Amino acid sequence: MAPASMRAMRYHGKPELVLDDVSLPQLKPGEVRVKVAFCGICGSDLHEVFEGPLTCCPVGQPHPLTGGTLPETLGHEFSGVVEELGEGVEEDGEGTEGRRTLRVGSRVCIEPVISCRQCDACKAGDTPLCDLAIGLYGYARPGGLAPFVNVASSNVHVVPDNVPLDIAALAEPLSVAWHAVAVSGFKMGESAFVIGCGPIGALVTRVLFAQGASAVYVSEPSASRRAIASQCGATAVFDPTTDDALARVREATGGQGVDVAIDCAGTQRTVDAAIESTRRKGRIVMVALFDKAKRPTVDMWALMTKERTLTSSCCFNAEDMRQVLAALSSGRIKVDDLITCRIALSEVFDKGLEVLRQDPTQVKILVDLEREAVQPASL
Ligand SMILES: [Zn+2]
Ligand SMILES: [Zn+2]
Repeated sequence: MAPASMRAMRYHGKPELVLDDVSLPQLKPGEVRVKVAFCGICGSDLHEVFEGPLTCCPVGQPHPLTGGTLPETLGHEFSGVVEELGEGVEEDGEGTEGRRTLRVGSRVCIEPVISCRQCDACKAGDTPLCDLAIGLYGYARPGGLAPFVNVASSNVHVVPDNVPLDIAALAEPLSVAWHAVAVSGFKMGESAFVIGCGPIGALVTRVLFAQGASAVYVSEPSASRRAIASQCGATAVFDPTTDDALARVREATGGQGVDVAIDCAGTQRTVDAAIESTRRKGRIVMVALFDKAKRPTVDMWALMTKERTLTSSCCFNAEDMRQVLAALSSGRIKVDDLITCRIALSEVFDKGLEVLRQDPTQVKILVDLEREAVQPASL
């Protein structure tokens, strides 16, 4: 049984996190209570805490869908076990297509997008493109940096038996990468150029190979992240600060350019490079988030004279997460080596966010909710 109260890692709008005592909210109809196993720390959490509030809603400006405001329990990349089913949540029958047996004890991961579920976009399955608003667990309502979270059953995916829960926590960022590749229209045997090899660039590289890429070239200024690109199987890795990555990509593709470029960095330089790196009728996908105020220019001449397509990828949908879980289960994609650190809930600020900010060798830091904080050795 879940206790009446718990300690949750909450963001109050200042560059710090507080392990607050909070009472467990009542389970509403249609929700399930999840006992969190693992929760990943994301670059977005870093931006939120050090530069925010950006996605969390300040006091007095509640989220239009959830009514959530600061302080908020962070964490949108999490897995766990269903502890309790709310009213109206039926135990799905064995083998129910897509959903599989959601019941008490089910091992699950969370699709964090909250949307109206009623508009045309939502009905078409494009939940992140909701006409009304979108929110995320961990920003617009309590997320996974707490022992328990109430989640709408429609936001829960049952994890295949052979996928461990720590790996399942990575299904969320992996789905972001999966969606970006899906948006590009990538087909088996095509070549790709990935710009920026942070966690998303690394996962995009893995997804491209899982889907049969003939070659994936990666450009990344940080040496340790170039090492991660190699670890992800990159065909060739370039340092854009010392090397003409564009020229190298052209050379490697017989002067033609790649079929697909995915920009995971999001600067004027990388937008230009992404466009120029593609072949005739090439496709360019922006997955990096641009500051609203920054409006990069697009070289329409370069785009048009090769009939290139420039498009973008926003979060992901339920189908992406289903495909990711299937790919993890079949072994088509592996991400265990990208979990670079495991910490306790109380260590999220010092050993999570601060470390992620300063150490580019980190890919995914996971909070293990069962783990006790390592106490400094007493003298
Ligand atoms: Zn994230
Ligand atoms: Zn909607």
